[in-house]
Order: sequence, then C-alpha cells, then structure tokens
Amino acid sequence: MDNQNITLIHYGELSLKGRNRSFFENKLKENIERETGGKVTKYRGRFVLENGDPELLKNVFGISWYAEALKVDKNYDSIREIVLRNVDKELSGKSSFAVFVKRSDKSFPYTSMELENEIGSEISKSYAIKVNLKNPELSVFIEIADDVYVYFKKKQGLKGLPVDVSGDVLSLLSGGIDSPVASYLMMKRGCRVNFIHFHVFRDNNLINDSKMLRVFEALNKYQSNSRIFLVPYYQFEMAILKALHTGGHELVLFRRFMVRVAERISLKNGFKALVTGDSLGQVASQTMENIAQITNTVSIPIFQPLIAYDKQEIVDLAKEIETYELSIENYKDCCSIVSSNPRTKANSRQILALEERMNMEEVIEKTLDLVSLYNM
Ligand code: ATP
Ligand code: MG
Repeated sequence: MDNQNITLIHYGELSLKGRNRSFFENKLKENIERETGGKVTKYRGRFVLENGDPELLKNVFGISWYAEALKVDKNYDSIREIVLRNVDKELSGKSSFAVFVKRSDKSFPYTSMELENEIGSEISKSYAIKVNLKNPELSVFIEIADDVYVYFKKKQGLKGLPVDVSGDVLSLLSGGIDSPVASYLMMKRGCRVNFIHFHVFRDNNLINDSKMLRVFEALNKYQSNSRIFLVPYYQFEMAILKALHTGGHELVLFRRFMVRVAERISLKNGFKALVTGDSLGQVASQTMENIAQITNTVSIPIFQPLIAYDKQEIVDLAKEIETYELSIENYKDCCSIVSSNPRTKANSRQILALEERMNMEEVIEKTLDLVSLYNM
C-alpha cells in the first residue's frame, strides 16, 4: 500500500453537546467538505479528511486541532521507515525530539512504550538529536488503531461551533473596526451571519466601488456565503434635518431607526437575532442608557458580543481575522449624522416625541422600499 496523505481533525467542544452531537458533526463535516473540496469520514470520535486542501481548515469553526498525517501499513517496519524518512525532512535546525505513541489496537505486537523506545533509539542512531520528552522541538506522533497514522505537527483550529448549528442572525455592519469583529464572534458561536449595511449613497450599486465589498468577502471567508442587505439612509437624514431641536439625540435616533429596519428584514427572512459591535462606554451612543433605548425598540434579541471588550482587544482580534486593514481604510460612513454634542443619557420621552415629529414609521416604510439584497 502507498502511504496516503490525510488530515486528522479533532473537534473538542462538539463532544460536550450530548444529544445534538450528530447534528453538529454532520454540519462540521459538510462545512469542511465544502471549504476544502475533500471527503470527510468519521473515525474514532474525530474526522479523517482525504483529498481536501488542509490549508483551508484554518478558516473552519468547530475544529480544535488538526494534523496532516500519513496513513501507514500496520507493521513495525513500515512505521519505522516512514518515521525515519520524514524525520529527515522535518529536522532542519532542531536539536531535540520525542516520540508519542497512542495504541488502541491492543493486538499490535508492541506496547506504546516499547514502540516509543524502539523508534526513539532508531532516530537517535540515525541523527544527532537528543530526546526531550518535556519540550521537544520535533514531535513524532504515532497512532495505532484500525489504521496507523504518523504525524509531526498539531495545528490549532479556530475552535467554536460549526457555522449553521445555531441559526441565522443579521449583523449591522458599518465601515468601522468593531462590527466585523462582532460578526466573526457570532459565526464562532455557530451562527450564519447575514449583513445589513446602511450607507450614505442614493444608489445601492455604488457600494460595489467601495471597500464594503471587501469587508463582506473577508468575513465570508469563515462561512462561505451569506445574504447582504444594502440600505440607503437618506430618508432618515431628510427627516431628521426637518425635526429641529433634537437635543443631541441624533445618534440614538439613527440607531433606533437602523435596528427597526433590520428587525423587519429579519422577521421576513427568518433571522433570529441582530448583532451590533457595541462596547460599553466606548463612544457616546454606547452608554447603558442609550443602549437600553436602542434595544427596547425591537422584539428580537440584539447580540453585542464586544460589550465587555477593550478597544485594544478588539483591534488585536480585528488584525488576527484580517479585517483591521480594511476597517481603517477611508470610507464615507454615517458621519453626517453625528451631532456636535451627543447625548450620553437618552431621554425616552423626548425620543418618542421626536420620532413622532419625524414620522419614524413612515421613514422606515420608505426605507424598506429602497433595500437591495445580494447573495454572496
Ligand atoms: P463600528 O466600529 O462597528 O462602526 P463604532 O464604535 O463606530 O462601531 P457606532 O458608530 O456607535 O460605534 O456604531 C455602533 C454599532 O452600530 C456598530 O458596531 C454597528 O453594529 C452599528 N452601525 C453603525 N453604523 C452602521 C451602518 N452604517 N450600517 C450598519 N450598522 C451600523
Ligand atoms: Mg462606526
């Protein structure tokens, strides 16, 4: 038999999920196959990927770690030969090693320790490196079960839950740093994240020339596709210009407008919650009083995964998930709606009076007529 390249995939958190387990496993399998183009089979509480591109596993949620491995014939000589040949390739610059054997097939004629010792001394004989069991620079993993696998590197997965096990949400995505990170974190909890973006243009097609397309793409890398709703907000802008004396409530009114439009779209499309990038106290609109005035306008939950994050933590994560560079690119966001003196404690009576004066319900209806949907 030829030694076959496969990838072993471990999915930690899934094992905790009791009755849902097979549902979660099937989703993960589906997501891996779609992402890598390979074939996944279940093997002793984890997956074996054949023919897929293992590089792409780094974007799949629900994986705890994975390792590119060689499937080897189940006999000592084959194992020895494969290990020595590959140690030669893996060795460069390393001076210590350890062999780790896991044997669940008890009919194999060597115990784990015997095999570790035998293979270990073969390596020592052939190469000038020392054994270091605690902190080896090179690890040799050998697993002996129905099949025999040899591998050298365990790579960290993204962890979390497979996309699609928790249902669809709608994320309010701006051109800023926070909301892409919030969207990512909801994907990590198994949501399929759809996007709604409110923009300054009259025509939704103008978004095609903006950085927003690249932001959607950067995020969809982790879930492969989503629905994107583009919404011009000039109806709101016109109405607020007419409503004089807003008392610094523009931003809260704008955010109430956005979540209501998003709620209507969610109810129509089966999205179960909204997502925003709010972080408590970060800006004037994100005090507890203001957040309360935003969340109390809608009947579905608004998830705010960044609520307790520091700005620096958000920036670090944005860099890690590769949205940061896009977020800091220039973009005409809703700067036209900030007042010079934004309210930090929204007054609910004033807000309701203002919404009546600007005819908010009509603004929402008119805006809903301007929405375009893109599948990406
Ligand atoms: P972000 O970096 O995500 O823009 P922010 O710190 O700038 O956040 P705000 O401008 O107060 O904060 O926005 C709070 C949240 O409101 C955003 O995280 C986002 O979820 C939503 N939001 C803001 N502007 C828009 C927009 N133009 N379209 C869709 N959602 C938006
Ligand atoms: Mg913003």
